Amino acid sequence: RQATEQAVKPSRDRWFGRIVGLLRSPRLDDAVWDEIEEILISSDVGVETSLRIIEQLRERVKAGQLDSPDAVTDALKQALTQDLSGDFEGLLPSDDGASKPYVILMVGVNGVGKTTSIGKLAHHFSESGKRVVIGAADTFRAAAAEQLEILGERVGVDVIRHAAGADPGAVAYDAYQASKARGADVLIIDTAGRLHTKSNLMEELRKIHRVLNRQDTSAPHEVILTLDATTGHNGLVQAKSFNEAVNCTGIFLAKLDGTARGGIVLAIRQELQVPILFIGTGEGMGDMAPFDAEDFVDALLA
Ligand code: GDP
Repeated sequence: RQATEQAVKPSRDRWFGRIVGLLRSPRLDDAVWDEIEEILISSDVGVETSLRIIEQLRERVKAGQLDSPDAVTDALKQALTQDLSGDFEGLLPSDDGASKPYVILMVGVNGVGKTTSIGKLAHHFSESGKRVVIGAADTFRAAAAEQLEILGERVGVDVIRHAAGADPGAVAYDAYQASKARGADVLIIDTAGRLHTKSNLMEELRKIHRVLNRQDTSAPHEVILTLDATTGHNGLVQAKSFNEAVNCTGIFLAKLDGTARGGIVLAIRQELQVPILFIGTGEGMGDMAPFDAEDFVDALLA
């Protein structure tokens, strides 16, 4: 919760705090509503969502349903929270052992923070007492496996890797076998994120998917797309093509601490219809938090 507040602070200071101030205006006239709408759009919430939310609030105020600034602020919080909440119940490997290892496939474009986020997730699970294995299936970038190995050492997690250029499907297979043999609870698999040969990449991702699925018909249990919060709507366009190629089950939104346009969280939810599971709140391995819509909105409009 504290990490969320810290990461959201720039957005609150720059944009959302102004909304709270405006809602305390003596009269909520057209000019005030227009300004609030503009702030939402500037914070990357997305035009359509901003218009819809403001329109609903306005109607309710007009109808006399919200008769104090606090009531209006609460209604806005509710509207934003509702837009963000999904049916996600927490990503935790089941303890019954039926789907052990719990397989998480990590996808995303190079540079968004995928490797770092894998380290964070490994740390997160291992801290909660789970045995974790990482599979370095981005064999395209030699540096990727090295970076993972360093992170793995730092957080005390085994990393399965092959030589550069090896078949990513073979790495996924070996990583799965190693996880089984070691009784791992969670297997996190890194994948390539090169964009210039996109069609090959998508084929590669689908192949890794198939390899895992042959080991366990319920695997991969999650396909998590890492997104860079600082790239705003541009990043969303790329994310959409990933999502179409390999049905993502959730999003790790990295670098939320690096932007004041935290409204992007709403745009992501709206555009991709995939829940945000985790947020990155800094460069350290502990700098992440499970995404909680209510905490997030509370922090934005505190
Ligand atoms: P990859 O190419 O997608 O694997 O990206 P990396 O994991 O190598 O990360 C790229 C850069 O983003 C590195 O400098 C990371 O330290 C930084 N980074 C990753 N996640 C976060 C985050 O949540 N917050 C901040 N501030 N930096 C991050």
